[in-house]
Amino acid sequence: MEKLGLRRATDLALHLPLRYEDETRITRLSDAHDGDTVQIEGVVTHSEVVLGARRQLRVTLDDGTDSCVLRFLHFFPSHQKTLSVGARVRVRGELRGGFWGREMVHPSFRPAGGALPAALTPVYPTVAALPQLYLRKAVLSGLNRADLSETIPAQFLSKNLPQPFCSLREALQFLHHPAPDVALSELEDRSHPAWQRLKAEELLAQQLSQLQARRVRDAMRAPALSGPAMRGTQCTLQEQLLERLPFRLTAAQQRVGAEIAVDLQKKIPMHRLLQGDVGAGKTVVAALAAARCIDAGWQCALMAPTEILAEQHFRKLISWLEPLGITTAWLTGSQKTRQRREMLALIESGAAGLVIGTHAVIQDKVRFNNLALAIIDEQHRFGVAQRLALRSKMTDDGQEPHLLMMTATPIPRTLAMSYYADLDVSTIDELPPGRTPIVTRVVNEARRDEVIARIRGQIEEGRQIYWVCPLIEESESIDLVNATQTHEALSAALPGVLVGLLHSRMPVAEKKAVMGLFTEGLMGVLVSTTVIEVGVDVPNASLMVIEHAERFGLSQLHQLRGRVGRGAAASACVLLYSTGDAPRLSQTARARLKAMVETNDGFEIARRDLEIRGPGEFLGARQSGAPMLRFADLQTDAELLAWARAVAPVMLDQYPDLAERHVLRWLGGKAEYLKA
Ligand code: ADP
Ligand code: MG
Repeated sequence: MEKLGLRRATDLALHLPLRYEDETRITRLSDAHDGDTVQIEGVVTHSEVVLGARRQLRVTLDDGTDSCVLRFLHFFPSHQKTLSVGARVRVRGELRGGFWGREMVHPSFRPAGGALPAALTPVYPTVAALPQLYLRKAVLSGLNRADLSETIPAQFLSKNLPQPFCSLREALQFLHHPAPDVALSELEDRSHPAWQRLKAEELLAQQLSQLQARRVRDAMRAPALSGPAMRGTQCTLQEQLLERLPFRLTAAQQRVGAEIAVDLQKKIPMHRLLQGDVGAGKTVVAALAAARCIDAGWQCALMAPTEILAEQHFRKLISWLEPLGITTAWLTGSQKTRQRREMLALIESGAAGLVIGTHAVIQDKVRFNNLALAIIDEQHRFGVAQRLALRSKMTDDGQEPHLLMMTATPIPRTLAMSYYADLDVSTIDELPPGRTPIVTRVVNEARRDEVIARIRGQIEEGRQIYWVCPLIEESESIDLVNATQTHEALSAALPGVLVGLLHSRMPVAEKKAVMGLFTEGLMGVLVSTTVIEVGVDVPNASLMVIEHAERFGLSQLHQLRGRVGRGAAASACVLLYSTGDAPRLSQTARARLKAMVETNDGFEIARRDLEIRGPGEFLGARQSGAPMLRFADLQTDAELLAWARAVAPVMLDQYPDLAERHVLRWLGGKAEYLKA
């Protein structure tokens, strides 16, 4: 129950059935069709244990209109007893036409007789070792005990709605135990009035909690990072940095830079998501924010999800910022103790203006002198707890650091606006000039040799190639075999070319060595198992081959493709696919590959991804800070969302106690996490 999050009576009451079973009637066998799931009642006329390839119990049941066979592959002596010849039993299962005539495999059964229930029987989502019967009783008891009194003031319950809502108690009672004559389609597509009420409640709770979080944040203080701490004749660090850059900022970079600058000058903590397609140039925007922070006399921390990414930032930012006299500290898990101690001292004394690293940045031992800005790259890869930990590194009581989160997997704007009342979003919607668009091709695995020939051509032109092998999450060892074989095959096919292999289980030092060779242009081809380590910036790489592309998610594919096309040379992405034993790819796999061929635009990709997967999953996978909506769907329930958005601020102002109760009911202990 703990695993399912079922702690309070309310949680149980809100644990809704996955589906229902109709045990309200008994069907006559002669009226039932193959494929129907039915409940029948009859007499056992035959029972035997059949030995064969698999030992099984076979029982023949006759209900007076026809007979059928019940088959059990797992059974206990007690089963045999209940199902002995002459016994009258009530059986429920799916009727199938089998070799022995009509049969049911592993039906549920019990002695016949007893009253039929008046409502459909709920089947709840559960976990191993939590039996359905037990859960049913627990939910029923929870439903009776829970405080389901009205939290939404009556004036809102019929506001701008096609039909007024029923009460929450009525809705829940109905959804747990619907009358047998309900249109099942209304339950399935959640259009039934009871569902409407429930989804409206959930959306309202989500909007209220985001608004609350926003108000809490607005009440918090952060250092206002306005101007240089020591004013002299010099221009600001930002201006110096801009001066030194080998390129001019794009208009989009300037715009988001200004948005961030405005936030940083305020006394309330910034909470901003910086989204921009891969290669859009988020790093320099982060560097400018860091420069402003350091200029004002405060420390800035930048956290990246992997050591390679962190190191890449480190190198780049060092090359930009150290010439300006900024000391940068570097923290990772694999560091030697002595170096680490030196770094910790730099951070604690405040000598280091900028601290870059992996999760190591948020460890207890790390004490900042005066942290004012925390930047998180690829923020969706960090959990909520880690973000909270970073924010708690602010040493001054009652103050919070400003928070800048960067992501290359954009959320469609409307979705972001409606979902994250608490988050400001800045978008870099333009790529730096001079990039040639990447050409994407979908190629059948059978034509692998042609791809290798193309690699040879690219190498001759002095280019470099990434080859990414699939990610099978359940089995990293299979990945490894794939990648190792590909590595060997490519090495053999490309004599004289250095082909490297990178996978997640290599020691960090080895990973770095391989990455180093590739970055410096000494390695022609890099075979990699994992998408994690390829968040790198090697402008000379011009071809990305993705093996078993059909197994990757759309945003992953797009991220990977973004590793090429960073220089001026024409770049390409080859999506190798295999249908395996199937005659063709699944529909969603085809839709993903098609989207990749048709567009290079990260926002369009995100839109298609949303279309293919639906917003629940879309947000759930990315934004661990916000709770996934369990019942409502932002797209199909746009009307309810509009209602919730209109009601939430008014309710929070006029009925704060009810609002509090409403949020608590829905989010329980989770509300704390929403603030992250
Ligand atoms: P991402 O947004 O994916 O993190 P990066 O910040 O790594 O992208 O930038 C990608 C590349 O583009 C880097 O090599 C960076 O130096 C370069 N770059 C960034 N901004 C510009 C610009 N305005 N003009 C030209 N190149 C730029
Ligand atoms: Mg980046």
